[in-house]
Amino acid sequence: MPGESTAIPKPTGEGRVTVRCGFCRTLNRVELARADQRPRCADCSRPILLDRPVRLEGEDFTRTVEEAGGPVLVDFYADWCGPCKMMAPALDDLASRHAGSLLVAKLDTDRWPGVAGRFGIRGIPTLILFDEGREVARETGAIPAERLEALLAAHTRIVPSR
Ligand SMILES: [Zn+2]
Repeated sequence: MPGESTAIPKPTGEGRVTVRCGFCRTLNRVELARADQRPRCADCSRPILLDRPVRLEGEDFTRTVEEAGGPVLVDFYADWCGPCKMMAPALDDLASRHAGSLLVAKLDTDRWPGVAGRFGIRGIPTLILFDEGREVARETGAIPAERLEALLAAHTRIVPSR
């Protein structure tokens, strides 16, 4: 309706996500579901790797996570954090098994304290599951891989895979 204000941002939809190229750091908009077709960076033509966690720059958070057209799991971590390191292989595995339906992203809370503050992060690791930009679940502390699958199954359309 013209003149009507909307507080809720429109999901950009159709399973598209904006991620930085891991090689040249150019932002690319890609369809999650086409992860297996090896999308390439518009700038350097190298592959956009969606089968592993993507490193977030703080200023990308809105575009990559809150404007995503699908589920994004964000790991708020720090390099010195032991439990974060413990969680890392499970997150790598999750990203690989659910490539095409889930984006796994990591945010370094030391580099981007403003973003961590905005989400009220009090302990790390904190995992926040977003779906179309909305927070749908949150876990603080290292959790087992099965719990990650359970979170996805409970809050998204992703079915567990092993
Ligand atoms: Zn590139």
